[in-house]
Amino acid sequence: MEENTPEYNEYRKQLLENAKKNAQKFKDEKIDIKDPSLIEKAASLARAVTSRGLTNKKADEKTIKLRDMSCHGDSELRPCSERRVSEKYPGSYYCGTCGCGDKKMTQLINLSINGKTEYSKLDYPKVSCPLNMPGFGTYVPYQEGVSENDRKKEIEKRYGIEYITENSH
Ligand code: SF4
Repeated sequence: MEENTPEYNEYRKQLLENAKKNAQKFKDEKIDIKDPSLIEKAASLARAVTSRGLTNKKADEKTIKLRDMSCHGDSELRPCSERRVSEKYPGSYYCGTCGCGDKKMTQLINLSINGKTEYSKLDYPKVSCPLNMPGFGTYVPYQEGVSENDRKKEIEKRYGIEYITENSH
């Protein structure tokens, strides 16, 4: 879809309206951001585990790349402020805000244990990010007063909201 066409503007308006609608829900979640309720944690975990299935299904490459950028950044984009250094798995990280803790299945990189590459949080076909960042199913585009995050704005500048929306699960 070409930018600045009536079709694109309508699409963008729709996206922002949806973000606004969702924002109240996300804001409510953020009230408990340091301690997500047990029900929210359980629902989010159940969604992720179901999407993985018994055959260790994985998100596609584009989605994992967006998630990777959201959590770790790169040489020009600082890592997410919620990323924590793992105490259990040296050299790895976990999300300090989603409430899942420092476990093997919640690491933000693929561990290599006994020569085997382990599944990471970024591999799940459907997974949540408490900051609603690109690549995750809870993605909400940047919008002043609704979802303000400079890192998100930078990632959207690089990839475009349409591409991110299509590849966030
Ligand atoms: S899952 Fe979201 S909040 Fe957690 S480290 Fe990644 S980008 Fe940050």
